[in-house]
Amino acid sequence: MTSWLEISEQRLRANYRVLAEAAAPATVLAVIKANGYGHGLEHCAQILAAAGAYWLGVNGVEEGADARRALSAVGMAVEAQPRVLMMCGLSEEDADGVVQETLTPVVWTAQQVGWLGAAARRAGRTVSVHVEVDSGMTRQGARPGAELEQVLQAIRETHGVQLDGVMTQFASAEAAGSRQTAEQKARFEEALAEVVAVGMSPAWISAGNTSGVDVTDGAEDLTSWVSRLARGMGARSMVRPGLGLYGYRLAVEAEGEVQAESRLGDQLEPVMTWKTKVIGLEEVSAGAAVGYNGIFVAERPMRLALVPAGYADGLRRELSSTNTREGGWVMLRGQRAPIVGRISMNLTTVDVSGIDGVLVGDEAVLLGEGVSAEDHARLAGTIVYEILCGVRAVERHKPRS
Ligand SMILES: *Cc1c(COP(=O)(O)O)cnc(C)c1O
Repeated sequence: MTSWLEISEQRLRANYRVLAEAAAPATVLAVIKANGYGHGLEHCAQILAAAGAYWLGVNGVEEGADARRALSAVGMAVEAQPRVLMMCGLSEEDADGVVQETLTPVVWTAQQVGWLGAAARRAGRTVSVHVEVDSGMTRQGARPGAELEQVLQAIRETHGVQLDGVMTQFASAEAAGSRQTAEQKARFEEALAEVVAVGMSPAWISAGNTSGVDVTDGAEDLTSWVSRLARGMGARSMVRPGLGLYGYRLAVEAEGEVQAESRLGDQLEPVMTWKTKVIGLEEVSAGAAVGYNGIFVAERPMRLALVPAGYADGLRRELSSTNTREGGWVMLRGQRAPIVGRISMNLTTVDVSGIDGVLVGDEAVLLGEGVSAEDHARLAGTIVYEILCGVRAVERHKPRS
């Protein structure tokens, strides 16, 4: 085993509870797509279902089937399992799987509804769908007006397909006072009015990610807004946090004069610890060029440790260091061991000159206590999301404590 993940069940449960309380009266859909943001979809599905999650959110049919299998494996009958929203599109080949696995797909075209209707009739079953409204993010969804009218009409006319929800996604939920968000809210309200006008009554209205639950600026926040809209239609409201479940959130931004705050503050705790073990130690003299291209040259005698994780494992190559540019670090014996030179595909060298008593076999923390996904994201010039779902440790298991 070269590296492994320790997933804190207790923290995942606690983060879920924090989000559920902050979102109330809206229901939390727990997003576990992208292999549970790198944490292991099946394990996360089991923990969140046991914590009471009524909805889970996955990417596609394969992930939906993985979630169903994981929940059946712990003795939950499908009817007792959380509902599973398939959020990232649908192709014709997916339709039978959607029906087989009892998934609720997000749809936005009449064509998608047609595929699902055919699959539902083949299986003699009914498929519930959530219609996604493109309120201005321009990614997926039907725009209010003719496009929305078409998909709604297709649902009304297609035997075996029923409207269960209407949803949208915000492009800038972390920015309080965002003009884009204000415009998106207005467009979504317009869309809901259309749904009502054609006499349809979805059970669920959903909008907002972690930041939608988190950001508050004195005005009506996204969670309250979606709850008010849902109430007005006799529907239930739902918000869809992902990142927050795993213990992270985006920094709250504010546009214009607004005073914005984080509702979640420091209540969330990181769920993932990524570990490996020291597999080599060496003393090098001044002048030694370390790693590919010798971009770091020892300026004095150093003690170096080798750990078996590199960029192929998700340890970003941008965390490499040169003599003049600091890179990332791992935690060894509770102290920072700076990464030295280039990170290789599956190997990384770290400086343990300042850490007493390091031995081959010592645990090294690649990500977790003392080195966060935010640290990695900053050094790699990316977002926490990409760091988390980029971790490809071979094993995921529970913490011993
Ligand atoms: C991924 C995703 C979310 C979760 O977003 P976070 O920022 O991780 O909370 C919510 N809704 C949809 C549609 C998504 O695709």
